[in-house]
Amino acid sequence: LVGVPHSRRGRRSPRKVTLTVESVIVAIDGPSGTGKSSTSKAVASALGLSYLDTGAQYRAITWWMISNGIDVSDPAAIATASGKPVIESGTDPSAPTITVDGLDASGPIREQDVTAKVSAVSAVPEVRTRITELQRSIAKAAEKGIVVEGRDIGTTVLPDADLKIFLTASPEARAARRS
Ligand code: C5P
Repeated sequence: LVGVPHSRRGRRSPRKVTLTVESVIVAIDGPSGTGKSSTSKAVASALGLSYLDTGAQYRAITWWMISNGIDVSDPAAIATASGKPVIESGTDPSAPTITVDGLDASGPIREQDVTAKVSAVSAVPEVRTRITELQRSIAKAAEKGIVVEGRDIGTTVLPDADLKIFLTASPEARAARRS
């Protein structure tokens, strides 16, 4: 990070000061189709930071529920099972990964069945608590810092994030990105 000391602001030829930070946490939120994922990965790559797609985690736990015969219309059944799956996220922004009980979940979590059910599963408080804990431990372990994308991140999961961005785009741009 490069900053200008307050006492020298407004003068000509300000002296540059380099501030070293141990790690930096960036939270990126915003509606779908605004380029959250592309931006988050690009920023993480450019700054040498880790990257976490929190939507993928909610999709992964949903995939596990479906695969294990849990009735996803029953919040109590979801709550009881929420602690069972082992979800692991690989945080390299150039090749992010997601596994559930050791199985690659990157393909199945994008399927229509998961997309249709993820909202009901992620609304269950026990699921949110579980995934929030996971997210906090991943952020803590990121040596140089991390870019975390998804709702709730800057408000609930990592309220002390160094930078919180809410990304928006015009309806036309969002529609074009989704098509
Ligand atoms: O971003 P993505 O479409 O992959 O997210 C899938 C779903 O997971 C969202 O529609 C939402 O229901 C849930 N989600 C959430 N909190 C997050 C990220 C995603 O509840 N931080």
